[in-house]
Amino acid sequence: MSTDYYAVLGVPKDATAEQIKKAYRKLAMKYHPDVSEAADSAEKFKQIGEAYEVLHDAQKRAMYDRGGDPLGGGFGGAQGFGFPGGGQAGFDFTNLVDAMFGQNASRGPRSRVRRGQDALVRLDLSLAEAAFGVTKPLRVDTAVVCPTCNGSGAHEGSEPVQCSTCRGQGDVTSVQRSFLGDIRTTQPCPTCRGYGSTIPNPCGECSGEGRVRSQRTINVKIPGGVSSGNRVHLDSQGEVGPGGGPAGDLYVELTVHQHEMFKRNGDDVDVVVKVPMTAAALGTELTLPTLEGERDDMDADLGTVRITIPPGTQSGTRLTVTGRGIPRLRASGRGDLGVTLLVQTPTKLDEHQRDLMRRLAEARDEARPGISVGRQHKGVFSWLKDAFTQ
Ligand SMILES: [Zn+2]
Ligand SMILES: [Zn+2]
Repeated sequence: MSTDYYAVLGVPKDATAEQIKKAYRKLAMKYHPDVSEAADSAEKFKQIGEAYEVLHDAQKRAMYDRGGDPLGGGFGGAQGFGFPGGGQAGFDFTNLVDAMFGQNASRGPRSRVRRGQDALVRLDLSLAEAAFGVTKPLRVDTAVVCPTCNGSGAHEGSEPVQCSTCRGQGDVTSVQRSFLGDIRTTQPCPTCRGYGSTIPNPCGECSGEGRVRSQRTINVKIPGGVSSGNRVHLDSQGEVGPGGGPAGDLYVELTVHQHEMFKRNGDDVDVVVKVPMTAAALGTELTLPTLEGERDDMDADLGTVRITIPPGTQSGTRLTVTGRGIPRLRASGRGDLGVTLLVQTPTKLDEHQRDLMRRLAEARDEARPGISVGRQHKGVFSWLKDAFTQ
């Protein structure tokens, strides 16, 4: 394949869908034959359309990246491609042009039916929901097709009629005479706002808009591994357009709440566990609850994890339980669970316990470390040094 579509749009090979769309819009605006003065604008515009046609479609893009020719094989090709209404660029293309110019780029009455806007809603998730995925009901308030007139905007039994001002043309031309000659100005018809028709008897429910606002509940499937700020894209779940036009998309922006026990660190999860001094010295085993324990569909074995604390464990030691963190969003596998151990010095000793402590201290020659600091107590010093330099 000779054309480098990425170069045509001026985007890097790893450009996101959003970048591709942006670049396309910008260039299409610039080279649209209706606005561009350049002689090669039509050719340019065609190339931009082709590049977008391929790169905005994940399947075609993948095929192109593998060296294939997604536009070949009798589908469009170089012929008959690229202009609004040409059809080869598909649905999205015409709509983009409509959106850019506020109406059909060609002259004549514009359609009442237009694509609706994208909508953005926010959704709160617990850490466990974000980690393992969840399907949540979400209440959305968007425009839907008016159920009374089915989007036509006309009262039952009535129909739009041809606009008498522009005789259905959608625009009106006025001629001003000047000494340089006649100046012709074409504008959208003020009576019908360019539609070429009026609705003399509008639908009572939508006032002729063809759409009404409505609340509905949709179930949103959230994949595991998402973070705050991630957006889930739901095709055609946004606002229905004027005249009952196709719906825009819905974006669900996620906010993940902090957990009182588990702290997220990328794909890893950290937890701090307090260990009694005696247990740290003698070693022990602990059963910890995991984040998975909060899942409804949890596998019983995964709700807890068993960790071994070796004898002589120091405060601040971090143990790693591999593969028990958060599932990776765009890869396989999972992060780790990090367990930081905080050794607790006992604070409320009764007389008997104090006596035991003293005897232990004597047995370990640690009875009065403050007085006899010699070589054998280098360990105490280095500990102090570590504590202050950390
Ligand atoms: Zn209606
Ligand atoms: Zn009119």
